[in-house]
Amino acid sequence: MDFKLRGYIEFSEPVDKLRESLSKLLQEASSSVLRRGVPKEQVGTLVKGWEVDEGNRSRLLLELEGTTYLRPHDALLRLKNYLAREMGKRHKIGLRTVHINEYTIALKPENLSGRLPEGLLESLNSGKLTVRVPWVERVWTDGETLFLSLKNLNLRAIENRYVERIMKRLKEKIDRFLYGGKAEHWELIWRSEEREPVWRKDPTKEMEKLGWIKRFDVGVWWHGPVTTKILRTLQSIVQTEIIKPLGFQEVILPKTVPLDVWLKTGHVPGSSNSFYYVCRPLSWDPEFWEDFSDHVKVTGEIPYKMLKEKVSPPTSGICFAQCPPLYWFFHKKLLPDEDLPLKFYDNSGVSYRWEGGGLHGLERDSEFHRIEIVWIGTKEQNMEIQKQLLERYRYIFNEVLEIEWRMARVTPWYMQQADQFQGEETELAGTIDFEAWLPWRGGREESEWLEFQNLTIAGTKFSDAWKFRTRKGEKVWTGCSGIGLERWMVVLLSQKGIDPSKWPEKFRERFGEMPKPIRTI
Ligand code: ATP
Ligand code: ZN
Ligand code: MG
Repeated sequence: MDFKLRGYIEFSEPVDKLRESLSKLLQEASSSVLRRGVPKEQVGTLVKGWEVDEGNRSRLLLELEGTTYLRPHDALLRLKNYLAREMGKRHKIGLRTVHINEYTIALKPENLSGRLPEGLLESLNSGKLTVRVPWVERVWTDGETLFLSLKNLNLRAIENRYVERIMKRLKEKIDRFLYGGKAEHWELIWRSEEREPVWRKDPTKEMEKLGWIKRFDVGVWWHGPVTTKILRTLQSIVQTEIIKPLGFQEVILPKTVPLDVWLKTGHVPGSSNSFYYVCRPLSWDPEFWEDFSDHVKVTGEIPYKMLKEKVSPPTSGICFAQCPPLYWFFHKKLLPDEDLPLKFYDNSGVSYRWEGGGLHGLERDSEFHRIEIVWIGTKEQNMEIQKQLLERYRYIFNEVLEIEWRMARVTPWYMQQADQFQGEETELAGTIDFEAWLPWRGGREESEWLEFQNLTIAGTKFSDAWKFRTRKGEKVWTGCSGIGLERWMVVLLSQKGIDPSKWPEKFRERFGEMPKPIRTI
């Protein structure tokens, strides 16, 4: 059998005198609660052995073996309820808890047919692909079957479905291993005409030389009047060409976000390696900070080690994506059908991402400016908004910025597999990445293009997470589009240069006069 469990049920009093009764109850349970839902001709979970623990006579030690028709940890919970009721009724004895000491599970992953690939086999047996939580002892394989051994699961762990989640996590890891680098499915859906670039230089480097921008910290830039004016011009193009005509309303969304908000969107744990975490002082009391002040004043330096002791562990992070706090507002709300779609945008602050250090140009920053458009409505309304946005974006990129760009569908594979995106809806939901050629990176065919914005139809992912629907109880869909202003700028300058006389006319008109350069001696 695929599942083998050793554990115990603990009562409020010794049960060593009640062996006969226990034997009877276990037999009764085996033919009643342990058969529920199991097809007649199939085996569910069997009680392979039991005894009263010599060391602790309140404990009934159990050995269960089972199949996917009824897995032993589920059987254990059924036994718990059954014995709690019957031992109470028959002997006035309460049931304290249940516990799994050891649990071995044999899995035949559906996505793996026959022998496992060599690399996977190795990674499993060397422990590289294990799930690193205290309840997992080992994951290994004989080449065809996966074995998972768990230990020390208490009632809370069992009831909160840790077993299922560990199995799911293991499957995810195997999938990731098999899919390798191509975690995203990339499919070209549209490509603009080719446009000859006016130069092939890296604008970040050139503008640094000219003193238009200055590297302030890793991925953080000081923008002088020129790049500031370019960014503001791009912002105003978004304002006049998209936000105004399509009627999005401005909201100012919080920029320090409790981690549990990102737990709901899935950014935790997925993007945990990329957040800027926020720490608050452990105490506001100036007395608590006195030694720190003394140290700074005497040495003229910042004692970072001491500082670490004075701040709390992070419970929030700085804006990674702008939309999560918007959905948070709608938690458990009903939306009047006639008010839909709701259309918002946020342009109220910087976003932060830790991109792994290293030197990047303006196209990959730690601190960047982005406008995010977010909408909530029926499925049809989502599709209509997507259509309108695409039309507006096309106009801007083709007619105003005159860039060479393309659109690709990049629905991550885990989303493709999600139930809600089956069939026809796969076509509708998912992410479109907008990418542009950066000539300084190389030829248009072989170099990596830059994603400068995206558009996602998230289906009911977020309305499910925060439980909001229409007043009639119907599902609502959400969508969002993140317009990265630095990325727009890098695309424009990479293809059109930094000499305004060579810029596309419509952009030049909107930009106006070139600001006076800052001169330093
Ligand atoms: P990439 O693959 O280039 O890192 P991403 O997939 O991480 O991009 P998203 O998470 O889709 O980007 O973020 C939405 C938008 O935010 C991007 O299209 C881009 O415009 C902007 N953006 C994301 N990361 C950065 C960054 N480090 N610097 C500047 N803009 C960024
Ligand atoms: Zn978003
Ligand atoms: Mg990224």
